[in-house]
Amino acid sequence: MDDLKYGVRDKRGDWKPNGRIEGAPLWNWPPRLPKILAWLPGYIWPWNAFHMFTALLYWFYIVPSVETMKTISWGWALWLYAVNAAAILVFYGIFELRYYIKRAQATRFKYNHKFPADAPSDVFWFQSQNLDNFLRSFFITIPLWTVVEVIFLWCFANGYVPWVGWQDHPVYLAALVLIAPAIHEVHFFFIHRLIHWGPLYRWIHSVHHNSINPSPWSSLSMHPVEGFLYHAVAFWHLVIPSNPIVALFQLHVAGFGAVNGHLGFDKLEVTKDTAVNSHAYTHYLHHKYFEVNYGGDGLIPLDKWFGTWHDGTREGEAMMDARFQKKKERMNARV
Ligand SMILES: [Zn+2]
Ligand SMILES: [Zn+2]
Repeated sequence: MDDLKYGVRDKRGDWKPNGRIEGAPLWNWPPRLPKILAWLPGYIWPWNAFHMFTALLYWFYIVPSVETMKTISWGWALWLYAVNAAAILVFYGIFELRYYIKRAQATRFKYNHKFPADAPSDVFWFQSQNLDNFLRSFFITIPLWTVVEVIFLWCFANGYVPWVGWQDHPVYLAALVLIAPAIHEVHFFFIHRLIHWGPLYRWIHSVHHNSINPSPWSSLSMHPVEGFLYHAVAFWHLVIPSNPIVALFQLHVAGFGAVNGHLGFDKLEVTKDTAVNSHAYTHYLHHKYFEVNYGGDGLIPLDKWFGTWHDGTREGEAMMDARFQKKKERMNARV
């Protein structure tokens, strides 16, 4: 595909999309139903539908019986870890293999013209972003994802929290599934904003930000505190009356969905003339500029409300620069 029909490439070879990142049209006033209806399919397909598919697959084939889950044991916890690790290896691995190892679409639609494998750096273990990110994901973050999973399944199995049945309240649970990505966005925004505070940033979040040019393995490359808090979004289903399948969906939106922001390409070419939108640009800008776009795609426009939104345009850039300038003046005044 010709990526210059969709964006521009600068002298260095970095590509950026035309137009602005549009948040969900749910917040426009007056609300326009046709716009919302046109937005809805892209909200569900393909990413959220995939997370629901894997949640169902887990529930029917992977998660042990309720009887087993009444007692926490290494057996089923390690089983869940093994499946989570294998699933991420395959799911993230597909993107890594096709777009970063085989480089099937070279740098078409790629925001940063460089590939991490070509840029060794001292900030990473073994000077390799790929190896560092991979090891942190599989030996720190995925175990913590599993800890969250084991805890909420154990709570449901023992009846410590309400278990809403699909037969009894199908409409309520379907609505909860639909808003789960919004719960994710709010949860992520606030924990993310918190760990951008100076001391917490240096202690915790700088690990994730070592990857200025993120690739699939960067997605779950986190400090343990962040790895746990990030997946703890599923614990909201211990507070809201819910169902373990919805909690699994919530967990998968976090665990599997993390890859979206770190794909590095705006569109993933599937055939010669078809491509899937990655939705990666918002979070790519966060990795590039740090103090913008703490949330996701603007499903809940928290970044707009808090004045940290960068919509990918020149105006977005100017707003960010003005904010940085103000911050600098405030810091200087304090000295
Ligand atoms: Zn990130
Ligand atoms: Zn950050």
